[in-house]
Amino acid sequence: MRVGIGYDSHRFDASGPLLLGGVKIPFDKHLIGHSDGDAVCHALTDAVLGAASLGDIGEMFSDRDQRNAGRNSVEMLAEAARLVRAKGYKVAQADVTIIAEAPRMADFREAMRQRLAGALGVPVDAINVKAKTNEGMGWIGRGEGIACLAVATLALSDS
Ligand code: MG
Repeated sequence: MRVGIGYDSHRFDASGPLLLGGVKIPFDKHLIGHSDGDAVCHALTDAVLGAASLGDIGEMFSDRDQRNAGRNSVEMLAEAARLVRAKGYKVAQADVTIIAEAPRMADFREAMRQRLAGALGVPVDAINVKAKTNEGMGWIGRGEGIACLAVATLALSDS
């Protein structure tokens, strides 16, 4: 078994919706990024790549490459899963924590699990998504942006 960890953060800008875990969440801000700013997908992509010793998302999809401008982050996650499979592993499970003062994520966690599981080619039960606030502290507490942590485990592929 192999374990990988991922972290990402993005800054808010005016006007929604908020895109997280491939799900559009009604909110008056969105996350800025060279791609679509989906911090959940980016953290999870790094966890998956890290578990397979495949480097990181910045190497795979450089923000200096114009082809990656506005890129769909669910597709980046799916590409990471393809690379992992090509190396003889499969994603066993993943756990994600979103740290954000707002909005409330509870109503969207299930949709995120489904989107992430679909991208990774695993059952929904293999993916957990949870969210917490930063208790009003620091840049997250001031609502300047969102941070996300992810852990993924890989198992040897059967085939
Ligand atoms: Mg990012």
